[in-house]
Amino acid sequence: MEVVNDNTCSWINDLTPRNNIQTISSDLNCEWLIVGAGYTGLSAARKLGQLYPNHKILLVDAQLAGEGASSRNSGYLVDTTLNDGFSSNKELDNYKKKADIYKLGIEAVKRFIKEYQVDCDWNECGKYFASSKEEDKKILENFSATLSKLGFEHNLLSNKDLKKRLGTNFYNIALFTKGGILLHPGKLVRAMVDTLPKNVSLYENSSLLNWKKINDTVICNFKNGNIKTKKIIFATNGFLKSIGIKYNYNFPITLTASMTRSLTDEEFKSIGQPKEWGVLPVRPMGATIRMTKDRRILIRNTAEVYNPYQMSQSELDKRSFKQKIGIKKRFPQLPDNIIQSTWSGIVSRTRNSSQIFEKINENIFVAGCYNGSGIGVGTFFGEQIAIKASNENTKEIEIIEARKKPTWLPPDPFLSLGVKARLLYERFRAKTEI
Ligand SMILES: Cc1cc2nc3c(=O)[nH]c(=O)nc-3n(C[C@H](O)[C@H](O)[C@H](O)COP(=O)(O)OP(=O)(O)OC[C@H]3O[C@@H](n4cnc5c(N)ncnc54)[C@H](O)[C@@H]3O)c2cc1C
Repeated sequence: MEVVNDNTCSWINDLTPRNNIQTISSDLNCEWLIVGAGYTGLSAARKLGQLYPNHKILLVDAQLAGEGASSRNSGYLVDTTLNDGFSSNKELDNYKKKADIYKLGIEAVKRFIKEYQVDCDWNECGKYFASSKEEDKKILENFSATLSKLGFEHNLLSNKDLKKRLGTNFYNIALFTKGGILLHPGKLVRAMVDTLPKNVSLYENSSLLNWKKINDTVICNFKNGNIKTKKIIFATNGFLKSIGIKYNYNFPITLTASMTRSLTDEEFKSIGQPKEWGVLPVRPMGATIRMTKDRRILIRNTAEVYNPYQMSQSELDKRSFKQKIGIKKRFPQLPDNIIQSTWSGIVSRTRNSSQIFEKINENIFVAGCYNGSGIGVGTFFGEQIAIKASNENTKEIEIIEARKKPTWLPPDPFLSLGVKARLLYERFRAKTEI
């Protein structure tokens, strides 16, 4: 994987640049190696640091720690994700298991920010699943029935309520869930980097090229040195497949998002001065759109199979244009040129939207694939995979392991073709919502 440190993401640009970046420049030995320093890897490292104060623990990342998807996301810490009703109790039971994991994810992030007094613009303002299409009401009513059965507070809203709350006339129907938090993803992950325990050594801009296990040792090759470790945790999420982990169970998807500058007083007045809000689409390929507390608008309305991982500026510009149209549709009164930055990020998907959490070989562990909800679940899975790798058990691990497991995926080119066709179909179905 090529190093991808760019200055395209507003969330990262809000942060103070870091210094004292250490890269791998010689051979190293350790008891524990964690590859990938996003929410998952940072949480795993923090937990291991607490459990083993005298062990040598290394955490490596191909780019600057936390500056992958963990800084580039939309900042929704979710308690529920949309599910269009169920035809059986078994499906309801599976949805409940998923929601139980989301809840534990929220608790893990809450514990972290409380313990370290982190300011990450935390706002328990709930979230909207919204659509401009009246016919999507049926989907939301089915979803409402599920939420009622599971005791999630929510209500259905019409165009008039939405206009008042969101400052746009675009949406005709929405389901508001009281649970769900909006936050600044960059501030959250930076706090995780800044509070790593003393016995964790962080190496950045150091990409794992390949690895192998010989007897009881895992040997990892980097450009300027090798690491020999007793135990390893892979936390590279969208890049798991690229290093051969759970190859037939996950695939990367590239998302792009844009953020505007802060609206001026006049612009903000023209849309009714709404409080901070976050909208998720009813159709999978519709737009995620957010009004931040400092009056910026974030929009994400693309998801694609895209290789190589880094998107060129001209490719980003094309997505930015789509995002400009998305904003214009919702806020025609705002000027055209208010987008300040457009960036891409890589997430990991599984076929059945289930996460990966397992021991794949003696002393080799992996956690990832949160299918777009990794802020909470990644933080939680990171802690728990560290405990699992210590050969301990917890009731949380039992809850994770009771979830539906990811299902097998066909090899390429069938996989890419299948995913591309599916995305195209979903994009067509959501064309008014982009
Ligand atoms: C545009 C966008 C919007 C999103 N919106 C949301 C949202 O609103 N809510 C939500 O919960 N989730 C959202 N997500 C998903 C969320 O960001 C991810 O689920 C989460 O970041 C996963 O965390 P992670 O630590 O597992 O992986 P990552 O944050 O992807 O971290 C993995 C790290 O591994 C490193 N790495 C990869 N390969 C190697 C290698 N060979 N050697 C060394 N290091 C390597 C990468 O550099 C990276 O830093 C969104 C993602 C994107 C891109």
